[in-house]
Amino acid sequence: MIAKEVIEEIRARCNIVEVVGAYLPQLRRRGSTYKCNCPFHQEKTPSFTVNDARQIFHCFGCGAGGDVFRFVMDYEKVDFVTAIGILAERTGVELKYEGGAQPEKSGNKDVLYKLHTDAAAFFHRMLLEAPEGAEARRYLEERDLPPELVKQFQIGYAPNDWEGLLSRALKKGYTAEQLEAAGLAVPSDRGGRTSHYDRFRNRIMFPICDQMGRVIGFSGRIMNKAEKGAKYVNSPETLLFHKNRVLYAFDKARKAIVDSRQAIVVEGQIDAIRCHQAGLENVVASQGTALTENHARLIKRYADEVILVLDSDAAGLKAALGSSEIFLATELSVRVVTLPEGEDPDSLIRKNGSDAITALVATAPSALDFLIEAFQKQEDISTEAGRMRVVQAVLNYIGHCSSAARRDPMIQQAADRLNISTAALKQDLRRAKQSQRPVRTTEPEAPAPKLPPRKTYPRQETALLELLVHHYREVHPLVHDFIRPELITDETCRKLAEILMLDPPETLTEGFHEYDDEMQKVITRVQVEESRTIDTETRPVELAQRYILLFWKRFLEREQADLARRSDLSNEERFKETTRLRLDIHALTKGWEEARPMLETRLHSDVDF
Ligand code: ATP
Ligand code: MN
Repeated sequence: MIAKEVIEEIRARCNIVEVVGAYLPQLRRRGSTYKCNCPFHQEKTPSFTVNDARQIFHCFGCGAGGDVFRFVMDYEKVDFVTAIGILAERTGVELKYEGGAQPEKSGNKDVLYKLHTDAAAFFHRMLLEAPEGAEARRYLEERDLPPELVKQFQIGYAPNDWEGLLSRALKKGYTAEQLEAAGLAVPSDRGGRTSHYDRFRNRIMFPICDQMGRVIGFSGRIMNKAEKGAKYVNSPETLLFHKNRVLYAFDKARKAIVDSRQAIVVEGQIDAIRCHQAGLENVVASQGTALTENHARLIKRYADEVILVLDSDAAGLKAALGSSEIFLATELSVRVVTLPEGEDPDSLIRKNGSDAITALVATAPSALDFLIEAFQKQEDISTEAGRMRVVQAVLNYIGHCSSAARRDPMIQQAADRLNISTAALKQDLRRAKQSQRPVRTTEPEAPAPKLPPRKTYPRQETALLELLVHHYREVHPLVHDFIRPELITDETCRKLAEILMLDPPETLTEGFHEYDDEMQKVITRVQVEESRTIDTETRPVELAQRYILLFWKRFLEREQADLARRSDLSNEERFKETTRLRLDIHALTKGWEEARPMLETRLHSDVDF
């Protein structure tokens, strides 16, 4: 459990407008609130609202709503504790746990995180200080990776020892099984009993972090070409490390990606590090694996555009094609940088300086242009057959895009470049789509902005909440004296009314995160709504009285209906009760002054309540 004061301190230190604005740069001021298109459903006109004064967000389209923690949870698709972590980092508040101690035992993962953190620190220390790290220090110097970069990326050195990390970790209290589960130790069978040895030996170690900067794996590079073994050894798949989901340096690039709405993807760790050094901070590395939908979705959460930086060889071209299709299917714009032959970003920057790479990025053609160019080089387009193969490849590529709005300009562009009419291309595309199995996207042609069925709440009950939120001083005494929770039928509205009957609306923000989903949705809506029900003619007090009468009438009518089913009453009691209910309901229809004494009687006789 995170201490309550810490949560409130984080809340106090971050302004929801800034936090949401960092994720959604399109957020604009409109009068007293901020608006943009909702990130939680598809829409063309903004119904997503952020309210500065109340520090909440609410979407009138899909009903999403809550405080700053809820926004981060929903947007990052993380749990509450993780959201706290993200905002703690942003605000520089140190996380303190209830009872003082960090959670130690809550599941395997925590131990693995800690083990990775410790291992990274150990490798880093070996590189910076240990005598056996001398060769590694020399290697990094030769590669022109200065101490600042080594520190920033926490680069390390795994000593040339079968039990370098293992023996130290065991001494710290970790078990060999935990090291094995972390992928840091490998089991071996020695004469029937299992022993373990270090997976990473005599290698330069690059810690791989998740989006939040927690170390979840490693990539280790050999220093000496002559040595046997793979150039890079990576952590295996573990509870924490999934290579098809993680992008190297994403944690360090995230802010720059959000700010620029653009992510640059290179292949190697050192390439990414070099780009950051060169001032390109929105660079991440795929670490040599094929990019997947998971990678694309991760980027899509922060960026609108991806720039792929690839080798100029045939493998690079193939990778570019595959990756572009995946990114296109995720509705990201894609551009492609082709490097000069034989270069990677690291070597290029070292040779020609930072400007060399920034210029290539700035002038990178769209993936479509890049592909047309590449296909035209491969095929003889002076022949009919060659030209058709290019058209086919281009159509196949465009087919991965499910959004008609994005597809149209691409068709136009392809038509211009290939010297074919757009009508013909469109026709072929339709035909190709029909004969093809569905493409990777789950979305059908022209995705319908389907909203999930939204729960509706009794209008009068939310209106009462509105009165309490917007006219608290006037209506609270009345509501407090004349409303009982039982009068409110909807559970969510009832819980909220109970809170507001105890405390003024200013205190709503405190403990906001403790409200359930539905409560957050309803109360944010009430808070941002400029009460339509409350016109200037009617005074809030009169309205409150009207709702009180209405709720009581409903309540007594339900009692009346129940009466028939009650077997615990004698005929005489039933008759008395029926008469009383009928009279009271009648009084309620006569207006406030007439009904008030009756209500007071009822409220003060505990028997009926
Ligand atoms: P360096 O500059 O140190 O040679 P690089 O990044 O230029 O590294 P590449 O051969 O271009 O090396 O490989 C690109 C990326 O692919 C590497 O950074 C690494 O993440 C991954 N990789 C390369 N070789 C292997 C391997 N044998 N096993 C696993 N991953 C590898
Ligand atoms: Mn390289």
